[in-house]
Amino acid sequence: MKSAEALSPLLQRIAQGSATTRAELARVTRLSRSSVSQRVDALLDNGLVIEEGTAPSSGGRPALRLRINAEAALILVADLGATRARFAVSDLAGAELGSSDQGQDIDQEPAKVLAWADGQLRMLLDRAGRQPADVRAIVVGLPAPVQFATGTAIKPPLMPRWDGYRVPGYFAERYAAVTLVDNDVNLMALGEHRATYPGLEHLLFIKAGTGIGCGIIVSGHLHRGADGAAGDVGHIHVPGCDAPCRCGNTGCLEAVAGGQAMASHLTAKGLAAATARDVASLATRGDTLARQEVRAAAQHIGEVLAAIVSFANPSAIVVGGSLAQLDDVLLSGIRAGIHARALPLAQRSLRIETSTLGERAGTVGAIALAQDRLLSEEGLDHLLRIRR
Ligand SMILES: [Zn+2]
Repeated sequence: MKSAEALSPLLQRIAQGSATTRAELARVTRLSRSSVSQRVDALLDNGLVIEEGTAPSSGGRPALRLRINAEAALILVADLGATRARFAVSDLAGAELGSSDQGQDIDQEPAKVLAWADGQLRMLLDRAGRQPADVRAIVVGLPAPVQFATGTAIKPPLMPRWDGYRVPGYFAERYAAVTLVDNDVNLMALGEHRATYPGLEHLLFIKAGTGIGCGIIVSGHLHRGADGAAGDVGHIHVPGCDAPCRCGNTGCLEAVAGGQAMASHLTAKGLAAATARDVASLATRGDTLARQEVRAAAQHIGEVLAAIVSFANPSAIVVGGSLAQLDDVLLSGIRAGIHARALPLAQRSLRIETSTLGERAGTVGAIALAQDRLLSEEGLDHLLRIRR
Protein backbone atom coordinates (compact mmCIF):
# COMPACT_ATOMS: atom_id res chain seq x y z
CA MET A 1 0.00 0.00 0.00
CA LYS A 2 1.40 3.37 -1.07
CA SER A 3 0.95 6.29 1.26
CA ALA A 4 -1.07 9.40 0.57
CA GLU A 5 2.16 11.37 0.48
CA ALA A 6 3.38 9.34 -2.50
CA LEU A 7 0.05 9.17 -4.31
CA SER A 8 -1.33 12.71 -3.90
CA PRO A 9 1.00 14.46 -6.42
CA LEU A 10 0.08 11.94 -9.13
CA LEU A 11 -3.62 12.10 -8.37
CA GLN A 12 -3.58 15.91 -8.52
CA ARG A 13 -1.92 15.89 -11.94
CA ILE A 14 -4.40 13.33 -13.26
CA ALA A 15 -7.29 15.43 -11.92
CA GLN A 16 -5.93 18.62 -13.52
CA GLY A 17 -5.36 16.76 -16.78
CA SER A 18 -1.74 17.96 -16.84
CA ALA A 19 -0.39 14.37 -16.99
CA THR A 20 -2.70 11.45 -17.73
CA THR A 21 -0.49 8.57 -18.87
CA ARG A 22 2.21 6.69 -16.96
CA ALA A 23 4.87 8.15 -19.30
CA GLU A 24 3.64 11.73 -18.78
CA LEU A 25 3.49 11.21 -15.01
CA ALA A 26 7.06 9.90 -15.00
CA ARG A 27 8.20 12.92 -16.98
CA VAL A 28 6.55 15.59 -14.80
CA THR A 29 7.29 13.94 -11.43
CA ARG A 30 10.83 12.79 -12.40
CA LEU A 31 10.04 9.42 -10.82
CA SER A 32 11.14 6.21 -12.48
CA ARG A 33 8.64 4.41 -14.75
CA SER A 34 8.45 1.53 -12.28
CA SER A 35 7.72 3.83 -9.30
CA VAL A 36 4.99 5.56 -11.31
CA SER A 37 3.50 2.21 -12.33
CA GLN A 38 3.40 0.99 -8.72
CA ARG A 39 1.69 4.20 -7.62
CA VAL A 40 -0.80 4.19 -10.46
CA ASP A 41 -1.63 0.57 -9.62
CA ALA A 42 -2.31 1.62 -6.01
CA LEU A 43 -4.62 4.40 -7.25
CA LEU A 44 -6.43 1.91 -9.51
CA ASP A 45 -6.72 -0.67 -6.69
CA ASN A 46 -8.25 1.96 -4.43
CA GLY A 47 -10.75 2.99 -7.08
CA LEU A 48 -9.46 6.57 -7.20
CA VAL A 49 -8.59 6.58 -10.89
CA ILE A 50 -9.90 4.78 -13.96
CA GLU A 51 -7.97 3.67 -17.02
CA GLU A 52 -9.59 4.16 -20.36
CA GLY A 53 -9.10 4.68 -24.09
CA THR A 54 -5.72 5.17 -25.69
CA ALA A 55 -3.45 8.15 -25.96
CA PRO A 56 -1.38 8.72 -29.13
CA SER A 57 1.96 7.08 -28.56
CA SER A 58 5.30 7.66 -30.27
CA GLY A 59 5.67 4.11 -31.50
CA GLY A 60 5.20 0.93 -29.48
CA ARG A 61 2.04 0.08 -27.56
CA PRO A 62 -0.68 2.74 -27.32
CA ALA A 63 -0.76 4.28 -23.81
CA LEU A 64 -3.85 4.06 -21.64
CA ARG A 65 -5.28 7.36 -20.37
CA LEU A 66 -5.97 7.80 -16.68
CA ARG A 67 -8.75 9.90 -15.27
CA ILE A 68 -10.09 10.56 -11.83
CA ASN A 69 -12.88 8.21 -10.74
CA ALA A 70 -15.75 10.67 -10.32
CA GLU A 71 -17.62 8.05 -8.24
CA ALA A 72 -14.89 7.79 -5.58
CA ALA A 73 -16.38 10.55 -3.39
CA LEU A 74 -19.42 12.78 -3.10
CA ILE A 75 -19.21 16.46 -2.12
CA LEU A 76 -22.03 18.36 -0.37
CA VAL A 77 -22.29 22.15 -0.35
CA ALA A 78 -24.47 24.37 1.82
CA ASP A 79 -23.86 27.97 0.77
CA LEU A 80 -25.77 29.84 3.48
CA GLY A 81 -26.46 33.51 2.91
CA ALA A 82 -28.30 35.97 5.16
CA THR A 83 -31.68 35.43 3.49
CA ARG A 84 -31.08 32.71 0.84
CA ALA A 85 -29.32 29.38 0.79
CA ARG A 86 -28.04 27.36 -2.13
CA PHE A 87 -27.31 23.65 -1.90
CA ALA A 88 -25.41 21.34 -4.24
CA VAL A 89 -24.21 17.75 -4.53
CA SER A 90 -21.26 16.97 -6.78
CA ASP A 91 -19.01 14.04 -7.60
CA LEU A 92 -15.24 14.03 -7.14
CA ALA A 93 -14.73 15.33 -10.69
CA GLY A 94 -16.79 18.40 -9.80
CA ALA A 95 -19.92 17.59 -11.84
CA GLU A 96 -23.06 18.86 -10.11
CA LEU A 97 -25.53 16.01 -9.55
CA GLY A 98 -28.22 18.31 -8.17
CA SER A 99 -28.77 21.74 -6.65
CA SER A 100 -31.51 23.80 -5.02
CA ASP A 101 -32.14 27.33 -3.86
CA GLN A 102 -34.23 28.22 -0.78
CA GLY A 103 -35.18 31.24 1.29
CA GLN A 104 -33.94 31.14 4.88
CA ASP A 105 -33.11 33.21 7.95
CA ILE A 106 -29.53 32.63 9.11
CA ASP A 107 -30.02 34.43 12.43
CA GLN A 108 -31.26 31.40 14.40
CA GLU A 109 -29.71 28.68 16.56
CA PRO A 110 -26.91 27.14 14.43
CA ALA A 111 -27.97 23.53 15.13
CA LYS A 112 -31.47 24.36 13.88
CA VAL A 113 -30.20 25.96 10.65
CA LEU A 114 -27.75 23.09 10.06
CA ALA A 115 -30.44 20.44 10.66
CA TRP A 116 -32.59 22.15 8.04
CA ALA A 117 -29.60 22.43 5.65
CA ASP A 118 -28.78 18.74 6.18
CA GLY A 119 -32.39 17.87 5.33
CA GLN A 120 -32.11 19.80 2.06
CA LEU A 121 -28.82 18.07 1.21
CA ARG A 122 -30.25 14.61 1.93
CA MET A 123 -33.19 15.40 -0.34
CA LEU A 124 -30.73 16.23 -3.15
CA LEU A 125 -28.77 13.02 -2.50
CA ASP A 126 -31.98 11.02 -2.60
CA ARG A 127 -33.09 12.64 -5.86
CA ALA A 128 -29.69 11.88 -7.42
CA GLY A 129 -29.95 8.25 -6.24
CA ARG A 130 -26.84 8.62 -4.03
CA GLN A 131 -26.08 7.54 -0.46
CA PRO A 132 -25.02 9.74 2.50
CA ALA A 133 -22.42 7.00 3.26
CA ASP A 134 -20.49 8.02 0.10
CA VAL A 135 -20.09 11.68 1.12
CA ARG A 136 -16.41 12.52 1.76
CA ALA A 137 -16.43 16.33 1.93
CA ILE A 138 -18.91 18.94 3.10
CA VAL A 139 -18.41 22.66 2.54
CA VAL A 140 -20.44 25.25 4.42
CA GLY A 141 -20.34 28.92 3.38
CA LEU A 142 -21.38 31.50 5.99
CA PRO A 143 -22.01 35.26 5.70
CA ALA A 144 -19.62 35.78 8.61
CA PRO A 145 -15.98 36.16 9.62
CA VAL A 146 -14.86 32.52 9.73
CA GLN A 147 -11.78 31.05 11.37
CA PHE A 148 -11.04 28.57 8.58
CA ALA A 149 -8.79 26.25 10.60
CA THR A 150 -11.53 25.42 13.14
CA GLY A 151 -14.64 26.01 11.01
CA THR A 152 -15.94 28.59 13.49
CA ALA A 153 -17.71 31.91 12.95
CA ILE A 154 -16.24 34.60 15.23
CA LYS A 155 -18.46 37.47 16.46
CA PRO A 156 -20.61 37.38 13.31
CA PRO A 157 -22.70 40.60 13.17
CA LEU A 158 -25.48 39.07 11.00
CA MET A 159 -25.80 35.91 13.10
CA PRO A 160 -24.67 36.49 16.71
CA ARG A 161 -25.94 33.09 17.94
CA TRP A 162 -23.27 31.36 15.82
CA ASP A 163 -20.36 32.99 17.71
CA GLY A 164 -17.86 30.23 18.56
CA TYR A 165 -20.06 27.40 17.27
CA ARG A 166 -17.95 24.69 15.60
CA VAL A 167 -19.81 23.73 12.43
CA PRO A 168 -17.64 20.66 11.62
CA GLY A 169 -18.76 19.05 14.91
CA TYR A 170 -22.36 18.94 13.67
CA PHE A 171 -21.47 16.97 10.53
CA ALA A 172 -18.78 14.78 12.13
CA GLU A 173 -21.51 12.77 13.90
CA ARG A 174 -23.45 12.26 10.68
CA TYR A 175 -20.95 11.69 7.84
CA ALA A 176 -17.56 10.05 7.22
CA ALA A 177 -16.49 13.32 5.66
CA VAL A 178 -14.18 16.28 6.20
CA THR A 179 -16.13 19.52 6.81
CA LEU A 180 -14.71 22.84 5.60
CA VAL A 181 -16.29 26.14 6.62
CA ASP A 182 -15.47 29.37 4.86
CA ASN A 183 -16.71 32.90 4.45
CA ASP A 184 -19.33 33.01 1.65
CA VAL A 185 -17.47 35.67 -0.32
CA ASN A 186 -14.21 33.67 -0.21
CA LEU A 187 -16.09 30.79 -1.85
CA MET A 188 -17.52 33.12 -4.51
CA ALA A 189 -14.05 34.51 -5.26
CA LEU A 190 -12.68 30.98 -5.60
CA GLY A 191 -15.57 29.95 -7.89
CA GLU A 192 -15.27 32.95 -10.18
CA HIS A 193 -11.49 32.61 -10.35
CA ARG A 194 -11.57 28.90 -11.23
CA ALA A 195 -14.46 29.06 -13.68
CA THR A 196 -13.94 32.38 -15.43
CA TYR A 197 -10.46 33.80 -14.75
CA PRO A 198 -8.15 30.81 -14.10
CA GLY A 199 -5.22 32.64 -15.70
CA LEU A 200 -5.45 35.81 -13.57
CA GLU A 201 -3.02 36.05 -10.67
CA HIS A 202 -4.67 38.87 -8.72
CA LEU A 203 -8.44 39.25 -8.46
CA LEU A 204 -10.89 40.79 -6.01
CA PHE A 205 -14.46 39.56 -5.75
CA ILE A 206 -16.93 42.02 -4.22
CA LYS A 207 -20.24 40.77 -2.93
CA ALA A 208 -22.92 43.44 -2.80
CA GLY A 209 -25.96 41.98 -1.10
CA THR A 210 -27.42 42.22 2.40
CA GLY A 211 -23.87 42.89 3.53
CA ILE A 212 -20.71 43.82 1.65
CA GLY A 213 -17.65 41.59 1.54
CA CYS A 214 -14.55 40.94 -0.51
CA GLY A 215 -12.73 37.74 -1.47
CA ILE A 216 -9.06 38.12 -2.40
CA ILE A 217 -7.10 36.01 -4.87
CA VAL A 218 -3.38 36.73 -4.64
CA SER A 219 -0.85 34.93 -6.86
CA GLY A 220 -3.60 32.53 -7.94
CA HIS A 221 -4.55 31.55 -4.38
CA LEU A 222 -7.29 32.57 -1.97
CA HIS A 223 -5.86 34.89 0.67
CA ARG A 224 -7.58 34.42 4.05
CA GLY A 225 -5.07 36.29 6.17
CA ALA A 226 -3.77 35.23 9.59
CA ASP A 227 -7.16 34.44 11.13
CA GLY A 228 -9.52 34.25 8.16
CA ALA A 229 -10.71 37.86 8.40
CA ALA A 230 -9.03 39.19 5.24
CA GLY A 231 -11.43 40.98 2.90
CA ASP A 232 -14.04 41.95 5.47
CA VAL A 233 -14.40 45.38 3.85
CA GLY A 234 -18.01 45.85 4.98
CA HIS A 235 -16.80 47.30 8.27
CA ILE A 236 -14.32 49.81 6.88
CA HIS A 237 -15.29 53.29 8.04
CA VAL A 238 -16.82 55.67 5.50
CA PRO A 239 -15.67 59.23 6.35
CA GLY A 240 -18.48 61.57 7.37
CA CYS A 241 -20.99 58.76 8.02
CA ASP A 242 -22.25 57.75 11.44
CA ALA A 243 -25.05 55.21 10.76
CA PRO A 244 -25.06 52.50 13.45
CA CYS A 245 -23.80 49.11 12.24
CA ARG A 246 -24.73 45.64 13.48
CA CYS A 247 -21.09 45.12 14.45
CA GLY A 248 -21.50 47.71 17.22
CA ASN A 249 -19.55 50.42 15.44
CA THR A 250 -20.86 53.36 13.42
CA GLY A 251 -20.32 54.55 9.85
CA CYS A 252 -19.29 51.14 8.43
CA LEU A 253 -19.54 50.71 4.64
CA GLU A 254 -22.18 48.01 5.18
CA ALA A 255 -24.29 50.27 7.42
CA VAL A 256 -24.21 52.96 4.73
CA ALA A 257 -24.24 51.01 1.46
CA GLY A 258 -25.31 47.41 2.28
CA GLY A 259 -28.56 46.03 0.85
CA GLN A 260 -30.16 46.00 4.29
CA ALA A 261 -29.25 49.65 4.86
CA MET A 262 -30.64 50.61 1.44
CA ALA A 263 -33.88 48.74 2.19
CA SER A 264 -34.32 50.69 5.46
CA HIS A 265 -33.62 54.01 3.70
CA LEU A 266 -36.29 53.19 1.11
CA THR A 267 -38.76 52.01 3.76
CA ALA A 268 -38.31 55.36 5.53
CA LYS A 269 -39.25 57.01 2.22
CA GLY A 270 -42.47 54.97 2.05
CA LEU A 271 -41.41 52.15 -0.29
CA ALA A 272 -41.98 48.46 0.47
CA ALA A 273 -38.42 47.07 0.72
CA ALA A 274 -37.32 44.60 3.39
CA THR A 275 -34.25 42.98 1.81
CA ALA A 276 -31.41 43.61 -0.66
CA ARG A 277 -33.41 41.64 -3.22
CA ASP A 278 -36.39 43.97 -2.81
CA VAL A 279 -34.07 46.93 -3.47
CA ALA A 280 -32.70 45.17 -6.56
CA SER A 281 -36.15 44.44 -7.97
CA LEU A 282 -37.38 48.01 -7.34
CA ALA A 283 -34.31 49.43 -9.09
CA THR A 284 -34.65 46.93 -11.95
CA ARG A 285 -38.23 48.06 -12.47
CA GLY A 286 -36.91 51.61 -12.82
CA ASP A 287 -38.01 53.10 -9.48
CA THR A 288 -36.23 56.46 -9.27
CA LEU A 289 -35.70 56.48 -5.49
CA ALA A 290 -34.31 52.94 -5.55
CA ARG A 291 -31.93 53.77 -8.41
CA GLN A 292 -30.70 56.90 -6.60
CA GLU A 293 -30.14 54.81 -3.49
CA VAL A 294 -28.11 52.20 -5.40
CA ARG A 295 -26.08 54.89 -7.19
CA ALA A 296 -25.16 56.56 -3.89
CA ALA A 297 -24.24 53.19 -2.35
CA ALA A 298 -22.12 52.27 -5.38
CA GLN A 299 -20.18 55.52 -5.03
CA HIS A 300 -19.36 54.68 -1.37
CA ILE A 301 -18.34 51.13 -2.32
CA GLY A 302 -16.16 52.51 -5.15
CA GLU A 303 -14.38 54.92 -2.82
CA VAL A 304 -13.52 52.15 -0.36
CA LEU A 305 -12.43 49.94 -3.28
CA ALA A 306 -10.19 52.72 -4.62
CA ALA A 307 -8.08 52.42 -1.48
CA ILE A 308 -7.95 48.65 -1.85
CA VAL A 309 -7.03 48.89 -5.55
CA SER A 310 -4.13 51.19 -4.66
CA PHE A 311 -3.09 48.77 -1.93
CA ALA A 312 -3.44 45.43 -3.75
CA ASN A 313 -3.25 46.31 -7.49
CA PRO A 314 -5.61 43.55 -8.72
CA SER A 315 -6.11 42.94 -12.46
CA ALA A 316 -9.83 42.32 -12.07
CA ILE A 317 -12.64 43.23 -9.72
CA VAL A 318 -15.65 40.94 -10.12
CA VAL A 319 -18.92 42.14 -8.59
CA GLY A 320 -21.47 39.56 -7.43
CA GLY A 321 -24.27 39.23 -4.88
CA SER A 322 -27.96 40.03 -5.19
CA LEU A 323 -27.37 43.66 -6.22
CA ALA A 324 -24.92 42.77 -9.02
CA GLN A 325 -27.77 42.35 -11.50
CA LEU A 326 -28.03 46.17 -11.40
CA ASP A 327 -24.83 46.35 -13.38
CA ASP A 328 -25.69 49.61 -15.14
CA VAL A 329 -26.17 51.63 -11.92
CA LEU A 330 -23.97 49.64 -9.54
CA LEU A 331 -20.94 49.04 -11.75
CA SER A 332 -20.89 52.55 -13.18
CA GLY A 333 -21.00 53.96 -9.62
CA ILE A 334 -18.22 51.64 -8.46
CA ARG A 335 -16.12 52.47 -11.56
CA ALA A 336 -16.59 56.20 -10.93
CA GLY A 337 -15.53 55.83 -7.28
CA ILE A 338 -12.41 53.86 -8.20
CA HIS A 339 -11.41 56.06 -11.14
CA ALA A 340 -11.71 59.19 -9.00
CA ARG A 341 -9.36 57.95 -6.27
CA ALA A 342 -7.06 55.07 -7.27
CA LEU A 343 -3.64 55.79 -8.77
CA PRO A 344 -3.35 55.56 -12.58
CA LEU A 345 -0.79 52.73 -12.54
CA ALA A 346 -3.04 50.65 -10.26
CA GLN A 347 -5.92 51.14 -12.73
CA ARG A 348 -3.94 50.58 -15.92
CA SER A 349 -4.87 46.93 -16.44
CA LEU A 350 -7.88 46.82 -14.10
CA ARG A 351 -11.12 45.27 -15.39
CA ILE A 352 -14.36 45.66 -13.46
CA GLU A 353 -16.95 43.05 -14.39
CA THR A 354 -20.16 41.47 -13.18
CA SER A 355 -19.90 37.88 -11.96
CA THR A 356 -20.52 35.42 -14.79
CA LEU A 357 -21.57 32.66 -12.38
CA GLY A 358 -24.16 34.79 -10.55
CA GLU A 359 -25.90 32.85 -7.78
CA ARG A 360 -23.75 29.77 -8.51
CA ALA A 361 -20.38 31.42 -7.71
CA GLY A 362 -20.37 30.20 -4.08
CA THR A 363 -21.26 26.58 -4.82
CA VAL A 364 -18.77 26.37 -7.71
CA GLY A 365 -16.04 27.70 -5.39
CA ALA A 366 -17.07 25.34 -2.59
CA ILE A 367 -16.82 22.31 -4.89
CA ALA A 368 -13.33 23.45 -6.00
CA LEU A 369 -12.29 23.86 -2.35
CA ALA A 370 -13.54 20.35 -1.53
CA GLN A 371 -11.78 18.81 -4.55
CA ASP A 372 -8.50 20.49 -3.61
CA ARG A 373 -8.80 19.15 -0.06
CA LEU A 374 -9.77 15.60 -1.06
CA LEU A 375 -6.86 15.34 -3.52
CA SER A 376 -4.35 16.84 -1.07
CA GLU A 377 -2.14 14.57 1.01
CA GLU A 378 -4.36 15.03 4.06
CA GLY A 379 -7.59 14.47 2.12
CA LEU A 380 -6.26 11.43 0.31
CA ASP A 381 -5.13 9.90 3.59
CA HIS A 382 -8.75 10.22 4.79
CA LEU A 383 -10.08 8.62 1.57
CA LEU A 384 -7.62 5.73 1.79
CA ARG A 385 -8.39 5.06 5.47
CA ILE A 386 -12.13 4.82 4.75
CA ARG A 387 -11.56 2.50 1.77
CA ARG A 388 -9.41 0.09 3.78
ZN1 LIG B 1 -19.77 47.41 11.09
